[in-house]
Amino acid sequence: MQKNIKKKVIELYKKGFGCVTITKKLKIPKQHILKILNSEKIIRKRNRCDYLEYDKKDEYFIINRVCPKCNDLVETKSKNKTIACRNHFTKIKKKSLCKRCSLKLQIGKGNPFYGKKHTNKTKQKISKSRKGKATGINNSMSNLEFRTKANKNLKKSWESGKLENTRKKMSECMKKTLRSGKIKSKVSSKKEKEIYELLINHGYKVKRFFKIDTKICDLYIPSLNLIIEYFGDYWHCNPKKYSYDYINQKKQMTAKQIWDYDKHKVDLIISYGYNLEVIWESDFKTNTNKILTIINKYDKSINTTPERS
Ligand SMILES: [Zn+2]
Repeated sequence: MQKNIKKKVIELYKKGFGCVTITKKLKIPKQHILKILNSEKIIRKRNRCDYLEYDKKDEYFIINRVCPKCNDLVETKSKNKTIACRNHFTKIKKKSLCKRCSLKLQIGKGNPFYGKKHTNKTKQKISKSRKGKATGINNSMSNLEFRTKANKNLKKSWESGKLENTRKKMSECMKKTLRSGKIKSKVSSKKEKEIYELLINHGYKVKRFFKIDTKICDLYIPSLNLIIEYFGDYWHCNPKKYSYDYINQKKQMTAKQIWDYDKHKVDLIISYGYNLEVIWESDFKTNTNKILTIINKYDKSINTTPERS
């Protein structure tokens, strides 16, 4: 009996059947078959991996195949040569497409979720499972280290020009919104309002939230062609109080970034031909009236007295 099986196994194997097929045919475990073949020293070497051409890049073995759809080269890579080989053959067997082709298939109707919606029950489930997660300090973005890292990476992509299309779209969209007047006001401070009222009380015609291109300015006095920007010490990181690397938590920007941003606005206002005065909170904290002294510089009607030399 034993001998009969042995003979049969050898016979089948020599005919070219593989171990798995023999296992199925004779209904004996594969291990058993391997044992027989090994004892006869006739086991075939599985050498399909030896025929492959491998590229070596760093620690990786790379095997190329062709995408069945677009005929582009697709890489299969692994640090382990055998795994790279196995994955390569599995992908060929499955007729796997390249990443681009398979993503394309998932657009629209090809997407498994196309036309489907989560049921209310599922929504509740998702909501429940997300509750309390990734909020507050559990959100990785609350960690300054990660935030700085993300910021750095984004900046890198931004500066490399990779996001140029995104930037253009965002910029155009925002400019459109601002020019259309959809955004009319901005956050204004008590002090700003105080200055506004002071100027009105002194007979000036003043416009608030005056728009120049895409920027909204605090105050504008048309008769003096003068823009007044009121800078809160904290919000604009008064250089008298903050160093360049101070991180403004509310704005999530460094003082230097805020100064650069403000400088850009200032330059823009001047480039449009307006007079400009920047008024710092700390300079006018005690005496708002001081602002009149500054404005008088522009008021020709006051400067009519001839200068004495
Ligand atoms: Zn493809």
